[in-house]
Amino acid sequence: MRLKNIPGAGEKVAASRFAVTEPETMRGKWQTLFAAPQPIHLEIGMGKGHFLAEMAQLHPKINYIGLEKYSSVLIRAVEKQEELQLPNLILIQADAEGLPDDFAEGEVERIYLNFSDPWPKDRHAKRRLTSSRFLERYDQVLVHGGILEFKTDNLPLFEFSLDSVREHGWEILEETRDLHHSAMAEGNVMTEYEEKFSKLGSKICKLVVRRP
Ligand code: SAH
Repeated sequence: MRLKNIPGAGEKVAASRFAVTEPETMRGKWQTLFAAPQPIHLEIGMGKGHFLAEMAQLHPKINYIGLEKYSSVLIRAVEKQEELQLPNLILIQADAEGLPDDFAEGEVERIYLNFSDPWPKDRHAKRRLTSSRFLERYDQVLVHGGILEFKTDNLPLFEFSLDSVREHGWEILEETRDLHHSAMAEGNVMTEYEEKFSKLGSKICKLVVRRP
């Protein structure tokens, strides 16, 4: 995500009733922010939040939480949600590193990773959101039998992620290296990056896995 400095973004995010900037204060209590207690699905690195806004409208029986590190990006999702006022969507400014401080054990039923930063250099492998370091964090917040869905246009990152989840003992339920021309395309909601990369001719890879 190209970062622009947006003056006042941090203040605007902090002032929104749909945004949480101190997520550790909500640990174990996320349901209280929603209109009704329902399964929580979390997108990590949601960018401008188009995917979640669409998912939240399509699936009113799910409570969606979007997590994004940078307020300059998050502000776009917050502005959109201020317009839409969806009862089942909350946005958090936080780093995925701190996930176990922000969510209680089993509080999350599904995690989405969409077009996560590839960190192509070997020495940065630990920063990839599908590395064992992050899978350990997901283990701490995801319910047993919970699902992780991952999409990327980056084949090396996809292969790395397949190995990583296998080594971690998670079960691969579905995988494709050409999502838009596969059976997995049904019900697919495109993200901003997915629109951009598929218009440029890139194939989209998708992986669905279950934690034990
Ligand atoms: N999911 C969106 C954006 C993909 S770009 C889409 O598919 O269109 C990846 C996003 O992840 C960026 O906005 C980046 O700021 C965010 N991100 C990267 N590492 C993160 C981390 N550790 N915690 C939270 N967000 C992160």
